[in-house]
Amino acid sequence: MRPLPTFPFSEADPIQHPGPPPKTSEVVIVGGGIVGVTTALFMAMRNIPVTLLEKGRVAAEQSSRNWGWIRKQGRDADELPVVIEAIRLWRQLAEECGEDIGLTQAGVTYLAETDKDMAGFEAFMKIAAIHDLDTRLLDGDETAQLIKGMSRKFKGAMTTPSDMRAEPWLAVPALARLAVRKGVKIVENCAARALEISGGRIKGVWTEAGYIETSSVLVAGGAWSSLFLRRHGVSIPQLSVRVTVAATEPLPEIYPGAAADQHIAFRRRQDGGYTLAPGGSNLLYLGPDAFRHAIKYLPSLKANPFGTRYFPFAPTAYPDGWSTPRDWAPDSESPFERMRVLNPAPEPAGLRSVERNFGRLFPQFETVRLKAGWGGMIDAMPDVVPVVDQVEAVSGLFVATGMSGHGFGIGPGIGRVVADLMQGNATGHDLSRFRLSRFYDGSPVRLGPSL
Ligand SMILES: Cc1cc2nc3c(=O)[nH]c(=O)nc-3n(C[C@H](O)[C@H](O)[C@H](O)COP(=O)(O)OP(=O)(O)OC[C@H]3O[C@@H](n4cnc5c(N)ncnc54)[C@H](O)[C@@H]3O)c2cc1C
Repeated sequence: MRPLPTFPFSEADPIQHPGPPPKTSEVVIVGGGIVGVTTALFMAMRNIPVTLLEKGRVAAEQSSRNWGWIRKQGRDADELPVVIEAIRLWRQLAEECGEDIGLTQAGVTYLAETDKDMAGFEAFMKIAAIHDLDTRLLDGDETAQLIKGMSRKFKGAMTTPSDMRAEPWLAVPALARLAVRKGVKIVENCAARALEISGGRIKGVWTEAGYIETSSVLVAGGAWSSLFLRRHGVSIPQLSVRVTVAATEPLPEIYPGAAADQHIAFRRRQDGGYTLAPGGSNLLYLGPDAFRHAIKYLPSLKANPFGTRYFPFAPTAYPDGWSTPRDWAPDSESPFERMRVLNPAPEPAGLRSVERNFGRLFPQFETVRLKAGWGGMIDAMPDVVPVVDQVEAVSGLFVATGMSGHGFGIGPGIGRVVADLMQGNATGHDLSRFRLSRFYDGSPVRLGPSL
């Protein structure tokens, strides 16, 4: 029997996908999160030999720590076609992997406290109409009908019954196992240290376990992508913010889907509890990249001045740590092996607030008891939409990163798109919004929704 993982995953978990890596591979993918895993999977489904390198454990960073919301609601208009495809792919992959990943169509609902909240929802309804979504606005009474037993009366809500949820820490490892069955070679505990580039083309990847000859590389390293690529002259204005999440002990069902107001987000879990997260601001640890890219973040700062708190020193060994090396030799230890799993501590105040606020919102729960709390670093872009692109200056180099807090739901869609992009096929979607050059070609920063 497979050993049961602890949660959050850490380097103490047994390696499920041992090395050594092969000496050559048609494609190498850096990063075993939802993006890397699903890209590898779709390539293997087309019989393309793929090696996926993961410095720690598959899904040990964002891809297992997230809330598990799979939503079309509140999405950027340019992301929506990919998310709509992703939802179809989630169903297909859940079936194909043959494991219960908790995929459930139970809806997503945003609760409105003010007219301003409702106005924001109304703006999204125009986008929803273009894509024929089942999203609808509710008044206060309808909201109380949808989620029963709330101690407060809300102005109203926006709800999308066809949105879904899944258990991320089950889903992404299960998809990785499916990828292996389809032929992907996954190697855990194996950091990619650097690329070998010659004459403007990818020639190979240096790993901590040797060199892999390849002509095609995808960087899907989540919060580490910018550090990895900067050494090769590719600058991505990516920063990470710390967020806190908790899981409750089992409680009666008050709503089978996921919902949020300004103070708390909650989602029904497959184990009968809820995944909770506090509202309010995220924590940005300041490091050299935060200053380097500050100007690109001004529009989002202006739009939401209190959305971020700052801590002056990014902890040692974090992607944007002051002492984190920005350069290293391919045959010496890299920052990626120094931190196998980025595992920030949850904020105690955040844990206390979710326990309190959830109990206050649903007084019928006599006691809300947390059984787990964890932290995660969300990799963000200045305009809150990802980078999915081929790097112009280096033939054979691709990047899919900066999922900006919503990469789990869209993940399989991005994976399918990137698999086609890397083969030179039509992707079926307009990806111009996600081009890397948007940050350098004089385009104004066009903020995606912060809904
Ligand atoms: C608390 C929290 C809540 C969220 N809630 C939601 C939600 O409800 N719905 C939603 O859609 N999204 C949500 N997200 C966002 C979502 O989890 C991420 O966007 C998504 O998981 C990103 O996937 P990824 O594959 O790009 O990166 P990751 O999951 O971070 O994976 C990147 C992997 O690359 C590895 N790596 C990095 N560098 C190297 C290297 N040099 N060599 C080898 N391996 C390397 C890392 O170890 C890591 O495992 C949330 C995120 C967090 C943190």
